[in-house]
Amino acid sequence: MSEKLKIAIQKSGRLHDNSIRLLKECGLSFDNGNDQLKIEATNFPLEIMFLRNSDIPQYVEDGVTDIAIIGQNLLVEKDKGIEEILKLGFAKCRLSIAVPKLVKYTGPSWLDGKKLATSYPNTLKKYLDRNNIKAEIHEISGSVEIAPNIGLAEGICDLVSSGSTLFRNRLKEVEVILDSEACLAARHGLNEKKNALLDKLVFRMKSVLASKNNKYVLLNAPNNKLEKIKKIIPGIKSPTIMPLAEKGWSSVHSVINENAFWEIIDQLKENGAQGILIIPIEKMIV
Ligand code: AMP
Repeated sequence: MSEKLKIAIQKSGRLHDNSIRLLKECGLSFDNGNDQLKIEATNFPLEIMFLRNSDIPQYVEDGVTDIAIIGQNLLVEKDKGIEEILKLGFAKCRLSIAVPKLVKYTGPSWLDGKKLATSYPNTLKKYLDRNNIKAEIHEISGSVEIAPNIGLAEGICDLVSSGSTLFRNRLKEVEVILDSEACLAARHGLNEKKNALLDKLVFRMKSVLASKNNKYVLLNAPNNKLEKIKKIIPGIKSPTIMPLAEKGWSSVHSVINENAFWEIIDQLKENGAQGILIIPIEKMIV
């Protein structure tokens, strides 16, 4: 029987839909409609297991699965023999310390001698040790944000994305101790065949992620501005430049990064670019 790579993804919850979408965008065919715990891709040697988020690092460490899509927060907290391979750009959040809104927070030393509730005791302990703070850690598994209101703790350490849960519970975020997003993680010591399959999957994921972060741009520019425009949109190797039917003008094609999108468009306009078209890229092989 030929070797298969086994991947764990979240059974239900925040990471589930994006994990499935990413695997499908990587060209993998599978039917995930029947609530099964384990399915196989029909066009790639990959077995997909749907597991409880917090159990995933243990399953990977034990070799039940080889790789996983999980939050970096969990990877750091569980600190198992698995390593981050690729950041995936979704489920962005931060692990933060928050205290009641009315507290006069003076800096990390305020935490000295306080009781902090969290589901992330290991990550919090490392932060406290690094900063020489002696605080009591009270581990709870859920609804951490209510702890100060019911007198269980004087502060919390929990995941925050929009901050609305903190706001609703009259808490304020005072220290960010970890920035997190979903990542692909793998067990150490995969055999050669599994490593080769992992390389293939990572290559596909990188192409999908690069296409999301980049746009194809076409524009018309006066020839005397081409040198400047080439510097603004250098593209992957260099832009394509073709003469227009109208004398003294060229068409320029290139790729631009989503992060600096509007700044680049402004610079192009300042340099005489006209008729700018932006087109999504489906896959980008770099
Ligand atoms: P779930 O089990 O559905 O609550 O998903 C938890 C995972 O989603 C965490 O381990 C994080 O990686 C990620 N996440 C992103 N934003 C948040 C947030 N505001 N609160 C909790 N988890 C978050």
